[in-house]
Amino acid sequence: PRSGFCRANSTFFTKRNPLNLPANPSLDVTTFISSQPHRGTTAFIDAATGHRLSFSDLWRAVDRVADCLHHEIGIRRGDVVLILSPNSVYIPVVYLSVLSLGAVVTTANTLNTAGEISRQISDSNPTLAFTTRQLAPKLPAGISVVLTDDVEERTRGVDVVGILSEMMKKEPSGKRVRDRVNQEDTAAMLYSSGTTGQSKGVISSHGNLIAYVARKISEVSLPDEILICTVPMFHTFGLLNFALATVATGSTAVILRRFELDDMMAAVEKYKATALTLAPPVLVAMINGAEKIKRKYDLSSLRTVRSGGAPLSKEATEGFLEKYPTVVILQAYALTESNGGGAFTETVEESRRYGAAGKLTCDVEARIMDPNSGRALGINQTGELWLKGPTIAKGYFKNQEATNETINSEGWLKTGDLCYIDEDGFVFVVDRLKELIKYKGYQVPPAELEALLIIHPDIVDAAVIPFPDKEAGQYPMAYVARKLESNLSEKQVIDFISKQVAPYKKIRKVAFINSIPKSVSGKTLRKDLIKLATSKL
Ligand code: AMP
Repeated sequence: PRSGFCRANSTFFTKRNPLNLPANPSLDVTTFISSQPHRGTTAFIDAATGHRLSFSDLWRAVDRVADCLHHEIGIRRGDVVLILSPNSVYIPVVYLSVLSLGAVVTTANTLNTAGEISRQISDSNPTLAFTTRQLAPKLPAGISVVLTDDVEERTRGVDVVGILSEMMKKEPSGKRVRDRVNQEDTAAMLYSSGTTGQSKGVISSHGNLIAYVARKISEVSLPDEILICTVPMFHTFGLLNFALATVATGSTAVILRRFELDDMMAAVEKYKATALTLAPPVLVAMINGAEKIKRKYDLSSLRTVRSGGAPLSKEATEGFLEKYPTVVILQAYALTESNGGGAFTETVEESRRYGAAGKLTCDVEARIMDPNSGRALGINQTGELWLKGPTIAKGYFKNQEATNETINSEGWLKTGDLCYIDEDGFVFVVDRLKELIKYKGYQVPPAELEALLIIHPDIVDAAVIPFPDKEAGQYPMAYVARKLESNLSEKQVIDFISKQVAPYKKIRKVAFINSIPKSVSGKTLRKDLIKLATSKL
């Protein structure tokens, strides 16, 4: 447990034993994890089929897949490999084997349209993609594919170069020659819009991920923990927890293909799960369905619920505890750009501070900065949270400008979140300064929707803002300035966008305005629009 909370020279941190970071510069995160001692036996369970992958099955599979990728497909250090897949017990196999070769994993949201995925692919330029037969048609022609589900016939229009289950069963080639991987090398590139603009590849190194794993090992972890994963594994929250942390600590992860309330509760009962990992909307669904859920399922094994990815209100916390008084809610606050670094609740004691995102993780230092004066603030003062530490990503792929705007020369990551830290070291996330909208925990970059809106012949200018919603957290709302003679309707605007984007990015509310308010430098005054939109609530 963490021993104390400190503040020195305007910097906050949580005092604890120093992290045991490996000094060897030539180390990849897969080797680091595979050398961790633990007492776990089952690594993964497929919730739908009950199929189990033991730790020895997992490492054998990782080794064989890496062998095939290197010697048969020719994947080398620095090559980019895309994973476009629903949650599966095989994602960790693919992830760990690609990383062991020094190749770079990138992921895409499976709900995205072919157009959205294409745009991301032309940015990250992957050599190979792991995907399912169902999702393969979303990939642009010409990309080499390894199918992660068993299929008899080859998928038309896609260049299938392998089947994962066959790779996992192959006899080892006996060749051990692989590229040397350094901690400084890029390991992963997940997409995030950060504080502004379009989605960008976040460059995370092996060293970043090793630091994350080192911290998870140092935390209280129980080898008999059985965690259910309902969060998407293409996102930092799911991927870090279920392809790195549980593997390193010897916990068992039960993987649900996608979130379904009944499937999740049935899995708790069937596998006697001790923890659920979820985003706040799932917790709200559990509150709303509590009577039925408790009547139908035996949840006596459940000890904790780990919520992250979006804010969890004090009301939701209280509502949940009223319905499930024996379950402890642990919160986690982090960003794609911080690789798990941020804040979290570790103990039952800490979980009692409702509304807080927890205490600072011991791998970060934090500052609270006044967004107007740029001054560092003190305890209980609200400002932008800055984070620094070994998990903070290196920057954005092919975008030095965004990198410089987000991570300063001293290595401080500007989170774009308005926070305060209280006298006991609890971090409270008050508001979001950055443009980002989070619909059920999914990132919706307003810039993407605005770029589409202004293409419409009747629209002169547009701005997209978050609109608060009990269930989703927020949804995108558009302010639209239309041409003088136009009688464009709300429905027409909504339909125009929904045809072009993934369902979670849909605009769900429109208001018409004469002109979009701008600052003298031409920046949209989003805060004014948010105030206008929510003033009637
Ligand atoms: P992502 O990169 O998709 O993980 O998004 C990171 C952003 O999600 C943060 O900057 C916050 O705005 C928000 N967020 C994540 N976790 C929390 C939390 N526990 N409480 C409040 N906001 C959160």
